[in-house]
Amino acid sequence: MKRRITQPVYVGDVQIGGNSPISIQSMTKTDTRDVKSTVKQIKELEEAGCDIIRCAVPDKEAAIALKDIKSKIKIPLIADIHFHYQLALEALKSGVDCLRLNPGNIRDKEKVSEIVNEAKKLKVPIRIGVNFGSLPPVGKIGVTRGISRHNDGVNLLEKGLGQEEKDYSVVDHMVATGLWEIRILEDLDFDMIKISLKAFDLDTTIEAYRKMAKLVPYPLHLGITEAGTAKSGSIRSSIGIGSLLYDGIGDTIRVSLSDNPIKEVETGIEILKSLNLKVSGPTLIACPSCGRADVDVRKLANDVDDLIRKIKTPIKIAVMGCEVNGPGEAKDADIGIAAGVGKAIIFRKGKKTKIVNENDMLQELMNEIKQFETESIVVGDEIT
Ligand code: SF4
Repeated sequence: MKRRITQPVYVGDVQIGGNSPISIQSMTKTDTRDVKSTVKQIKELEEAGCDIIRCAVPDKEAAIALKDIKSKIKIPLIADIHFHYQLALEALKSGVDCLRLNPGNIRDKEKVSEIVNEAKKLKVPIRIGVNFGSLPPVGKIGVTRGISRHNDGVNLLEKGLGQEEKDYSVVDHMVATGLWEIRILEDLDFDMIKISLKAFDLDTTIEAYRKMAKLVPYPLHLGITEAGTAKSGSIRSSIGIGSLLYDGIGDTIRVSLSDNPIKEVETGIEILKSLNLKVSGPTLIACPSCGRADVDVRKLANDVDDLIRKIKTPIKIAVMGCEVNGPGEAKDADIGIAAGVGKAIIFRKGKKTKIVNENDMLQELMNEIKQFETESIVVGDEIT
């Protein structure tokens, strides 16, 4: 996998683009004005592996609350702005690390310019967040009940951009909307830019990102919008985000789920790990179970999954349902357990190291994992 080279930006101390690791973002689901609950959720997300957090800014009180929130958290804070450019200016005063602007609903060039001039003074980057659901009306695209609420700015985009109008697709319009705002920023000599082009439909999203990736050097924030519940949305997001990442496109990701945001972070981590784009922490290999299983694999795998969540050392752990095939099928794992009748085998890289009693198998597995972590630290120390 060859990653697209992008011009890096810094959101607080997190580099996005260039040769940086792909960062994981999430968004709080609390009322931003409720500082205590918002900070609590951000800390839980940070603990789960979230690199950057974004908060909605529905009004001035929320924009002001960002200052208090920012002073109480460690990870960088992004203000999510829609409709009201004054809220972006207020969020900048609160010391946020980045702004997200939606060109679909702040469409006036003068207002965008005012935000950009202020962000430039403070060296705060801007994400241009194009969203399928809030595209400005052009031709037949983005028209809400046939009425345009605004007659300025991005609405003046050419209908076909040199193409026949009938060939001008939603994807073209998403890209054109993003480019409209990119040009305003560039004209003001502002290049701390990242871009997103989110839709629910995977074809549209993937095509929009691919097109934009060829046109500008800026980092891309990947996501599938309104992806759904943890069950369906995590699959939809994995396919959409994963396809782009596999093409080398994407510098930071946010999985959107109708669920606890911790699930968004966990899904993001799993997407990156599946593509070998993140190597920290545990990777759980678990067999699907079959007629040869000697234990309840589902329960055992879930118990192990819960116990290993906080481990930071890169380690592959296998949970297999039978001792005949288990160690061989999971020979890639650093540590594994294969359950038998009344007992279990602990193995390393497919080789048996111990036979333990069924009642002690979870504890024995955790002991073995701790031992592996200690050995990794020793090896690391020797290298340094
Ligand atoms: S490890 Fe054993 S129980 Fe699990 S799927 Fe393979 S054969 Fe079946």
